[in-house]
Amino acid sequence: MSKAKVGTIWLDGCSGCHMSFLDMDERLVELAQYIDVVYSPYVDMKEIPNDVDLFIVEGAVSSDHDLRIIKKIRQNSKKILALGDCAITGNVSAMKNLVGTDAVLEKGYFDLADINKGQYPDEIVPKLLDKVIPLNEAVDIDFFVPGCPTPADAIYTVLKGILEEKEVDISSLTRFGK
Ligand code: SF4
Repeated sequence: MSKAKVGTIWLDGCSGCHMSFLDMDERLVELAQYIDVVYSPYVDMKEIPNDVDLFIVEGAVSSDHDLRIIKKIRQNSKKILALGDCAITGNVSAMKNLVGTDAVLEKGYFDLADINKGQYPDEIVPKLLDKVIPLNEAVDIDFFVPGCPTPADAIYTVLKGILEEKEVDISSLTRFGK
């Protein structure tokens, strides 16, 4: 049986949900029999590959770079799993929406700047969107797994369910804000 090609990525998240992925501990060895990780912060792959079976995405969409990446992932993946509250609702990443992008840039690059006050980055650093959005406002999403961070047990159960094409109930394993 060929292994499922799985990618993982964090967009505007804190990496906490990826840490939970690692918290599956010895179950990662079991999962490695069924999946090949073809793109991830865990592996040294520079380009998002074609024909990915499942992409696991942490974090919200906050910049033009995030938007480009999530659209590319949608193009290249059969299924996308939104991992964690930031990916599903915006959560912590979307707190910026309360004050707006201009206010955040002013605080970071003017009020708090020691040098080059008022020089807002326009090269190399991705341009922030006017509003942070959850993944499903940018592209269609197939699976939603909440939590902050999503507990390892919930990630494991969902991955097993997807691999075995079975419906699973994770209501006792995670919830929004947990
Ligand atoms: S949901 Fe929580 S743990 Fe996951 S990326 Fe967002 S802030 Fe971090």
